[in-house]
Amino acid sequence: MPPGTLYVVATPIGNLADAAPRALETLRRADVVVCEDTRTTRTLLARHGIERPTLALHAHNERAATAKLLAELQAGRSVALVSDAGTPGVSDPGALLVEAAHRAGMRVVPVPGPSAAVAAYSAAGFAADRFLFVGFLPPKTSARRQALQVLDVPWPLILYEAPHRVLACVKDLLARFGGEREVVIARELTKKFEEVARLPLAAAPAWLEADAHRQQGEFVLVLAPGAP
Ligand code: SAM
Repeated sequence: MPPGTLYVVATPIGNLADAAPRALETLRRADVVVCEDTRTTRTLLARHGIERPTLALHAHNERAATAKLLAELQAGRSVALVSDAGTPGVSDPGALLVEAAHRAGMRVVPVPGPSAAVAAYSAAGFAADRFLFVGFLPPKTSARRQALQVLDVPWPLILYEAPHRVLACVKDLLARFGGEREVVIARELTKKFEEVARLPLAAAPAWLEADAHRQQGEFVLVLAPGAP
């Protein structure tokens, strides 16, 4: 493993069997595994019999942890960055460390794998040359509606949403884009209760309300592109 390298490693979004061989090998050989929640990552490491030192990097200590890790990289150690699930830096912490590593002239190596956005998009079936990854919309209703007003692009939109807001978000999409526009509701991807439903926005609130479980778990919404 080349010294002083930062590996940005994608991990499963629910199904631990989705850990890629190269991701596991990188974690097995890194001097330190940097993660959001050490307990979550240790579950993944234990499942694959990996024993490496872990260090937490999250929204509350990102600056201090970045400085410490940069020193590790400069001392020639290899650092593997993971998040709780999916690809680090995609609606997850990590970008600050990656930027610092670039600025310090360290090698940055992505180890690609799962991301909920790409998984949902691949199962949506909207033929398009591009998409817009929106991530999480603002949680407050007025700010969310305002954000949707400026999202006027002829491409599919990929949104992350929390379970307790998914119904309100879908209703706002309906009000903004009209009932005929299709949406894909991708719920609990790769997990036991996975559902992927593609339906017109007009039918989406009723779909979510049809079963109490349908507003539980993790969600990606993929909105069909509007007319160019
Ligand atoms: N970095 C992650 C990635 O690459 O997908 C995303 C992290 S973000 C903090 C977490 C959000 O991603 C969830 O609230 C949900 O919107 C989406 N998500 C993560 N795992 C998911 C899954 N298994 N099924 C559906 N959505 C998921």
